[in-house]
Amino acid sequence: MENTIQQSGLLIVAYIVASVLFIMSLGGLSNPETSRRGNWFGITGMAIAIVATFFHPQVSSCGYGPIIAMVAIGGAIGSVVAAKIAMTAMPQLVAGFHSFVGLAAVLVGVNSYMAGAGMTGAARAIHETEVFLGVFIGAVTFAGSVVAFGKLQALIRSKPLLLPGRHLLNIAMVLATVYCGYLFFGVENLLAQGIPALVVMALIACVLGVHLVMSIGGADMPVVVSMLNSYSGWAAAATGFLLENDLLIITGALVGSSGAILSYIMCKAMNRSLVNVIFGGFGADEGKAAAPGSEAAGEVVATTVEEVACMLQDAKNVIVIPGYGMAVARAQHPIKEISDKLRASGVNVRFAIHPVAGRLPGHMNVLLAEASVPYDIVLEMDEINKDFPGTDVALVIGANDIVNPGALEDPSSPIYGMPVLETWKARTTVVLKRSMAAGYAGVENPLFYKENTRMLFGDAKKSVDAILARLQ
Ligand code: NDP
Repeated sequence: MENTIQQSGLLIVAYIVASVLFIMSLGGLSNPETSRRGNWFGITGMAIAIVATFFHPQVSSCGYGPIIAMVAIGGAIGSVVAAKIAMTAMPQLVAGFHSFVGLAAVLVGVNSYMAGAGMTGAARAIHETEVFLGVFIGAVTFAGSVVAFGKLQALIRSKPLLLPGRHLLNIAMVLATVYCGYLFFGVENLLAQGIPALVVMALIACVLGVHLVMSIGGADMPVVVSMLNSYSGWAAAATGFLLENDLLIITGALVGSSGAILSYIMCKAMNRSLVNVIFGGFGADEGKAAAPGSEAAGEVVATTVEEVACMLQDAKNVIVIPGYGMAVARAQHPIKEISDKLRASGVNVRFAIHPVAGRLPGHMNVLLAEASVPYDIVLEMDEINKDFPGTDVALVIGANDIVNPGALEDPSSPIYGMPVLETWKARTTVVLKRSMAAGYAGVENPLFYKENTRMLFGDAKKSVDAILARLQ
């Protein structure tokens, strides 16, 4: 008895320490300079949480065999996948992991419902509410994340699926869920009445999750990834309630709320309404006419490595705009060397970061930090956009959607309204990419046809290496 009290006392202390470490981790991750430390806080918190769970009375009374086997199998698969995954495939990995959180919430919910047989009164009502909500959020997260994975992996087309009357369809599914709830709560026979209602509700929630993510267009995918991150947090919190695990509730709430805040920040950065993005495709098909002269027109002028090297040497102000192509080509190291070289000869070189550049929030910041680019020359879009008119060369490395003037000028563009880096205001814009192909949003880019734009075709790493060799 005394042993059990001591055990649960230690468990509470361990959970409090882990919770504090998770909060410190989030604080650390909010800034590139402290992000490494933030990661270590998170790793330490998770290690404490896992070890402490072994001493949970329910776990120790069941024996350690199954839990050790599961941790070993899951840990081995997770380590191999994480070690093999390319940085550019990280978003689909994250989406895949979110789907597991959702599925776990559904399975725990069903299990906990059956285990709760015999409960009565208020305790039963609370338990059934937790089960119902946990399974609903889990199923939406699971199915939505599977579709997000498919879209990010290019297994499913990124164009939004805009079914006629799609908003009514969503409302109908929510009403059907409410009806399942009516059939589910307080039934006499859990197996014959409760489980069928729960399973039908889970299936409807899966269809809802699929439909919500299918109706979101490519350009809005960053918000979807962060929204699913938030949903997975709430699904974990619901699981925490079912398992009566305070740490899981706290962790789930932290992930859920930070994901929601990130989604809000991303929406603001993209000038989108959060509600529109969540309910998918609001206004996406209500095509407005293209503004006169906004369609891509003009001639594409190709340039050479020699010309670009000369332009950079003669420049006083240079802004580098990294995008997804820099991540694919892994060109961040040579571009850092170019910036060092130019800075040493007195050129003012800075990096401009668009909030949705790449395929993950903060993707470009991570790559530039990895290449040791000093933080003080890495500026956010809002800080640097006004400086393009006084800039001699804007060097666009594998970016496309984030420098598309159509977002400001063409009301018919799917990315219309999204603030972009206004590189065309610089004296010359040099774009490094392999072809005239569109970016993630699948829209043509009039920047490539502007008079002061020069295209340097080829793999970004090879082009940047060649420019560096030329500068040396
Ligand atoms: P884009 O996807 O718009 O464009 C990337 C460009 O890189 C392509 O046009 C491609 O052109 C070029 N490229 C690819 N590989 C190479 C290479 N090896 N060398 C040189 N160029 C290469 O990227 P942006 O960063 O401009 O914009 C991000 C887009 O992704 C936005 O639409 C955003 O909404 C979306 N998104 C962002 C997420 C986030 O969280 N940041 C998450 C999900 C989506 P080419 O093939 O001709 O070389």
